[in-house]
Amino acid sequence: MAKDTIIVGGSIAGLMCGIMLKHHGYNVTIFEKEPSKSREGYNAGIKIGPDVQDFLKKHSRVPRDFTITCKAPVKFNIDGKAKPEHKQTMTSTSWGLLVSILRADFDGLTSKAVPIAPKAEERDGNAVFRNGAKVTDVRDFGNSVQVDVEDATSHNIQTVSGDLVIVADGSTSTLRKILLPDVKRQYAGYVSWRGTVQEAAVDKQASQTYAEKFAFHLMDRNYILHYTIPTDDGNVDPGKRLHNWIWYQPLAEKSEGMNAIFTDMNGIRHHGTVPRGLLEPKVWEQQKSLASATMPTDLAQILHSTSAPFVCTIYDLLSPRSVFFGGKVLLVGDALTTIRPNAGMSTTHAAYNCNELEKMIEGKQTPYQWEKAVLSFGAAQQRFAMVIASFGLDSKLVMVWYTIRWLLLLLGQKLGLA
Ligand SMILES: Cc1cc2nc3c(=O)[nH]c(=O)nc-3n(C[C@H](O)[C@H](O)[C@H](O)COP(=O)(O)OP(=O)(O)OC[C@H]3O[C@@H](n4cnc5c(N)ncnc54)[C@H](O)[C@@H]3O)c2cc1C
Repeated sequence: MAKDTIIVGGSIAGLMCGIMLKHHGYNVTIFEKEPSKSREGYNAGIKIGPDVQDFLKKHSRVPRDFTITCKAPVKFNIDGKAKPEHKQTMTSTSWGLLVSILRADFDGLTSKAVPIAPKAEERDGNAVFRNGAKVTDVRDFGNSVQVDVEDATSHNIQTVSGDLVIVADGSTSTLRKILLPDVKRQYAGYVSWRGTVQEAAVDKQASQTYAEKFAFHLMDRNYILHYTIPTDDGNVDPGKRLHNWIWYQPLAEKSEGMNAIFTDMNGIRHHGTVPRGLLEPKVWEQQKSLASATMPTDLAQILHSTSAPFVCTIYDLLSPRSVFFGGKVLLVGDALTTIRPNAGMSTTHAAYNCNELEKMIEGKQTPYQWEKAVLSFGAAQQRFAMVIASFGLDSKLVMVWYTIRWLLLLLGQKLGLA
């Protein structure tokens, strides 16, 4: 009999699990708290690693280009001179475009990026995506699990049962707080300024210097990354693509500086992200002046041409468990482990969780083997991201310390001690 599955959260991790389970004949309902059907992304980039590619090769039926391959990492010095660092290329896309593809694969929602959705196949289970549906509680109910779902408009609460519940409600997860009340997010001590600008909207020379390059520039304990991405609507044409940049900068928690940066142009104090277009103009002017003083001219040009930058606080979170209620509730994605974005591993982590889950669904591993795999992977990626972050944000000594901790963890995992 087809299993009824509830997925909490309709972003990358929830959609990937939903598609995979639907393809295995499960009837899947995704509850997503955001009311809007068409999801506005942050218009920002994500890295597409091998786990994401494996997932898409197996489960995506949307036949369209959605990535850009950026040339090997290049370090730019203050005079704009490029020094190749190593040979690996980087495959990128935009969050909004990937979500549009996943939605088309899950429940056939069409968009500018995917105007024709793939047809369901005979062996597929049912797929339902409910917007404006916030899950507020979860309970073990013997052979099934119950969740409470609050309607965003009426605030009515409905109780729904499922055989399996996948919790994919992100870093601030409501259900994780219920399942693991002692697990708390830790502020990592720095923020990311992010933005995108169309290639054609930037000075021609600056745009050409950085087009299709995965570039970085180190400053005094802060650094910036740049890569090229498609638009959320799926445009991959030169000139129309986007320069995507991420500038990491230390910022003391609860400081005056943090208060000023995270209070938007309408006087509202944000705690995770000041959304696109809402940065207080004076705050952004200051950042632009700093960019002009500390970055190569062409890169500073790209920042100056960015019309709607945004800023986020960076957190670490590591859950000690991912299996609850005897395997009927599973925690995945950022809700399980929130990895600093510096190494671009969050989407890879979500895909890894899903690919390993498929092995469990196929009977190739137990829920507890799945748990071991995803906890080990998340912990290792989290420490690796700390190494990468410390490369640009900390002293060499701190970076060596993070590297040792990461290597010790890998060794411990290999020996079965961690
Ligand atoms: C709008 C948006 C834009 C993003 N853009 C980028 C980007 O450009 N670059 C990047 O690197 N990362 C981005 N991310 C983060 C990225 O998706 C994650 O880091 C990673 O891919 C893992 O995703 P996730 O599905 O585990 O978590 P998330 O992407 O955080 O998704 C969690 C989802 O759960 C929903 N949700 C939360 N609580 C509840 C609840 N109680 N009931 C129902 N639904 C709930 C949220 O609305 C969200 O859709 C974005 C996330 C969001 C939500």
